[in-house]
Amino acid sequence: MIDQFGRTIDYMRISITDKCNLRCQYCMPGNIIQKEEENYLSYDEMIRVCNIASQLGIRTFKITGGEPFFRKGSISFMKELKALPETKEVTLTTNGILLKRNLEELCAAELDAINISLDTLDAQFYKTITGNCQADLLDVVNSIIELRKRGQRIKINTVILEHTLEEVESLIQFAEQYGIDLRFIEIMPVGAGADYKLVKSSELLEKIKEQHKSLRPYQKKIGNGPARYCEADDIKCKIGIIDAVSNCFCGSCSRIRLTSKGELKPCLAYKEGVDLKSLLKAGISDKELKEIMRETIYKKPKAHNFHHGQVYETRNMNQIGG
Ligand code: SAM
Ligand code: SF4
Repeated sequence: MIDQFGRTIDYMRISITDKCNLRCQYCMPGNIIQKEEENYLSYDEMIRVCNIASQLGIRTFKITGGEPFFRKGSISFMKELKALPETKEVTLTTNGILLKRNLEELCAAELDAINISLDTLDAQFYKTITGNCQADLLDVVNSIIELRKRGQRIKINTVILEHTLEEVESLIQFAEQYGIDLRFIEIMPVGAGADYKLVKSSELLEKIKEQHKSLRPYQKKIGNGPARYCEADDIKCKIGIIDAVSNCFCGSCSRIRLTSKGELKPCLAYKEGVDLKSLLKAGISDKELKEIMRETIYKKPKAHNFHHGQVYETRNMNQIGG
């Protein structure tokens, strides 16, 4: 559907849980305690919302969290979503820690792409940044390699931290070796990310150019997201940049969000949303639900205001789906 600023909205990020097995310092720092209560939208309720979203033209879905594998039944849900007649694509974003034990079932689900968040190839820094001294980088790396062997389309997402500038070449070499697209994401001042120093994409690109002098914009579009890609003569993989802070791309934003607690959230940067869970519990009809969703999406805010230091969302990324 088209929103009030003429943007086509056709992509929904669905956070199926706000819980996680890692404590990435910029997302869900170690002092956050996970409550046992499970007042999540049920999978059946999510499917109902997705069906209505499809009627509004939203047919590409990204499963996110928290850590999606942390919620039981996540792969069955992804399969069910993919099987809906109107669904165009279902993709997943995961930290990769639980991939190993879910590999067979996940491959059978035939998702359109899997994004794996990996900020470093340094095993010690991995434990530091993920706030989990048990987190084993090798588990993630081996699962990536296994998925590639099975022909799965994968992208690695790396948040640009000061440390990334030191490691960018080894990440490129790894992506290159296994035929993976690599995307670098500027840290957003949302939740715990607000305490982090922004390392701009321009600084990272300069660093990459030191090694790869022919680095230049890649002209074709890849994927559904806001990443712009670069290529170089001496790199086979494509390098994506998602620089929401230094290069605001809100004018072409196509996405909305559904949180695990059932809130339909038209913009990452604003706390406003509509509580679909309460409406579903109150017995709302599909027709009424569709109208409320249409109205909420239509009013999607024009843009974030990160570059002026204004942030209107105080929740952490694990709660709003990254
Ligand atoms: N746990 C899964 C994962 O890590 O891929 C899915 C949820 S996580 C919130 C989704 C993405 O958001 C990850 O790639 C993570 O690095 C990114 N993220 C978290 N906090 C961020 C921040 N403040 N700025 C930019 N990206 C952030
Ligand atoms: Fe968990 Fe993903 Fe947030 Fe890291 S980025 S704490 S893996 S939800």
